[in-house]
Amino acid sequence: MKKLTNEFLDELVTECKPYSREGEVVKDIPGQDAVDQNKLGVCIIDMNDQVYSAGDTDLRFTLQSASKIVSLMMALDDFGKEEVFQNVGMEPMGDFYNSISHLESHDVSKPFNPMVNAGAIAVAAMIKGKDTDERFNRVLKRLRQITHNNSLKMNQEVYESEKRKGDRNRSLAYFMKSTGAIAHDIEESLDLYFRINSIEVTTTDIAKIGVFFANGGLCLRTGKQLIPMHHINTIEAIMMTSGMYNEAGKYAVEVGFPVKSGVSGCIVGSVPGRYGIGIIGPAINEKGNSTAGGELLQRISRQLELNIFSVIRQQKD
Ligand code: GLN
Repeated sequence: MKKLTNEFLDELVTECKPYSREGEVVKDIPGQDAVDQNKLGVCIIDMNDQVYSAGDTDLRFTLQSASKIVSLMMALDDFGKEEVFQNVGMEPMGDFYNSISHLESHDVSKPFNPMVNAGAIAVAAMIKGKDTDERFNRVLKRLRQITHNNSLKMNQEVYESEKRKGDRNRSLAYFMKSTGAIAHDIEESLDLYFRINSIEVTTTDIAKIGVFFANGGLCLRTGKQLIPMHHINTIEAIMMTSGMYNEAGKYAVEVGFPVKSGVSGCIVGSVPGRYGIGIIGPAINEKGNSTAGGELLQRISRQLELNIFSVIRQQKD
């Protein structure tokens, strides 16, 4: 087994950069259009708050769909598992993240799971607060606590673009309104969804989210239990089955711990009891997952032996 060091990560980043040629950068996210497609960065944080990193870790990007795990965390904390899963399913969809057809062909009363767009919009609709500002500020405040980054904020330009170009998401939302799957105000729910998608981060910030989950919702620095552990277990299970959309099976096999991607090319990984991982590789494949980032994640898991299904075997060795 390899040892986790900055040099080890440096080598892997160099090895994996060429995989960025297999993907493309999403051009319609402002700021992202100018990003070099060969960028690749990784940050890993262990349970002693020790940070390891390599590559383009200064790159700023928006959470995009990686925010879906944050929204789910908020809704679970606000309402608990029973109520949340009355409004959204927990089964893998096995299709593209913004699929429309599955809303009608499966169960019209709720979208497949919180990791696809329809499910995340339904989850955002649940987050408590008197108006969109208050609801968004609750999310941001929680995320600032988790990342220990008080300057974390929404990228206004990305938000405006998400809103302007959000017709696919709007159609998902209005379909759910028509079937009664969402009872809340649709435009407000979409607005909150767009804002949460547009929170700007670095690999360090998302590695902090990963390590917070890896620590079962306990803040590493303050020792405070911010979210009950059973909610984190629920989120991680759903990340494992649906976090990488229709590549979730491949990642369960090849990586073997909970991960969640976003179309900005980011991936949040959480190795229970061990590490939080943040990766950025802006070139993504047609399924919405970073090509170089995905390769890097697989090599990290293999070489550091992080697959959670080998834990028992490792303990016996
Ligand atoms: N903002 C994108 C959307 O809502 C996020 C999708 C993603 O990251 N997979 O479609």
